Amino acid sequence: MPCYRCGVRQTDPERGKSPWRRGVLRDELILVCPACQESGDWTAGLESCSGCASVHLIRRLGQVECLDCGLVREPGTALVPAGIPASRDRADAALAEEVGRALERLLGRR
Ligand SMILES: [Zn+2]
Ligand SMILES: [Zn+2]
Repeated sequence: MPCYRCGVRQTDPERGKSPWRRGVLRDELILVCPACQESGDWTAGLESCSGCASVHLIRRLGQVECLDCGLVREPGTALVPAGIPASRDRADAALAEEVGRALERLLGRR
């Protein structure tokens, strides 16, 4: 996985303690290379823990976990994309049913 800021790829396989830092951005796990960490504001775009404001978060098993205080939360945005198509499908189904009934009424009168 490349650095989310500059796109550079990890040269060494991640083994032991990596100088790369993990974070969570829009419910996606991201990596930040050591060079970008030196910029100081590399945490600006990252999600922070609602409990302790740490950006030391990881994405695991569909949840976001804080590595500092252990707070785990369900990713909020994951529920939104799943909900929108479902309600749109329901609206389409309702519309199709309405059109079907209207056609039946028209055909029934003939
Ligand atoms: Zn970088
Ligand atoms: Zn925390």
